[in-house]
Amino acid sequence: MAEKADYYVVLGVARTATTDEIRKAYRNLALKYHPDRNPGDKEAERKFKEISQAYDVLSDPEKRKKYDAYGHEGLQGFATRDFQSASFEDIFETFSDIFGDESLFGDIFGVGRRHRSRRGTSLRVELVVDLKEAASGVRKTIELWRQENCASCGGSGAKPGSSPETCRSCGGRGAVMRSAGFFSVQQTCPTCGGSGRVVRDPCGECRGAGVVRRKREIEVNIPAGIDDGTRLRLAGEGEPSRDGGQAGDLFVDVFVKAHEFFKREGEHLYCEIPVSYAQAALGGQIEVPTIDGKATLDVPHGTQSGQLLRAKGQGLQRLNGRGRGDLFVRVSVHVPAKLTKRQEELLREFAGIEEEQNGKKGFWKWITGK
Ligand SMILES: [Zn+2]
Ligand SMILES: [Zn+2]
Repeated sequence: MAEKADYYVVLGVARTATTDEIRKAYRNLALKYHPDRNPGDKEAERKFKEISQAYDVLSDPEKRKKYDAYGHEGLQGFATRDFQSASFEDIFETFSDIFGDESLFGDIFGVGRRHRSRRGTSLRVELVVDLKEAASGVRKTIELWRQENCASCGGSGAKPGSSPETCRSCGGRGAVMRSAGFFSVQQTCPTCGGSGRVVRDPCGECRGAGVVRRKREIEVNIPAGIDDGTRLRLAGEGEPSRDGGQAGDLFVDVFVKAHEFFKREGEHLYCEIPVSYAQAALGGQIEVPTIDGKATLDVPHGTQSGQLLRAKGQGLQRLNGRGRGDLFVRVSVHVPAKLTKRQEELLREFAGIEEEQNGKKGFWKWITGK
């Protein structure tokens, strides 16, 4: 996982900052890194997305509590809004409570932004699985809070039985003309906030917002063989569009925890197994652990320390193909630290035979040729 910046540092606020202070800090930074003030500046764009990500977490009491207690890891299994793939317009729309009424932002941003139907915000959640779960595939339940269309009013915000009226100030256009010296400037309609409609009799359930926050449990199927860092997309499981467009998606970023024994390389697994000197010299069968049990492996006669043996098909499932990878076992020949008397006798005898075969200084002879 990539190192992530501290959200408090990103927004330049103290860890004890109030919600209001956080809100102000975000507004000021958002003005600074505003896309219209930094056209084509990639770094400003990155900063803008980063502060928006930080604000999304720190402005939500529940997410902030988790983040304070456990850092970025605390947000795993928690949906955060996905701003990496979001457009500026989507980000403004998401935080419209901050920017919507600001004439400053209204002017910079211009009008007409609410007049095409826009997708709902996509959400992003991180999920960590262990290697065993990645090998076999697993079903996980994600708990998340998300905005949903209010069921009572069907998202209109108007009390059931009534409907929103066309805004009289702008005639439903969402924009009004304002005179500015010699010119007339188009401005977001302050009465309806640009939507062109006004709710006279608000829905009691959502207080006119048209959306409510709901906790949902969503099942995610993690396919067998999934790789670290894979992004799964659950279409339409994000937040609803505010104006009849498509709902956003839910992106699940899956991370695979490192295993203490097995190392993974693609669909193959690697591990190291100690083998006794006698086993290595004489050969034989050994039992090796696999990701889902154990397997018997043939150690050939005369196996050297460091040699790789292969247990075919004991690796991970191939994601887009059939079959499984292999398990590679690196043999490390184990020299006993303690010997029984009998073992020592036998080894001395063995050493004697070796000397007879190679000459007394066999090794030196081999190295130096003398
Ligand atoms: Zn409602
Ligand atoms: Zn209006």
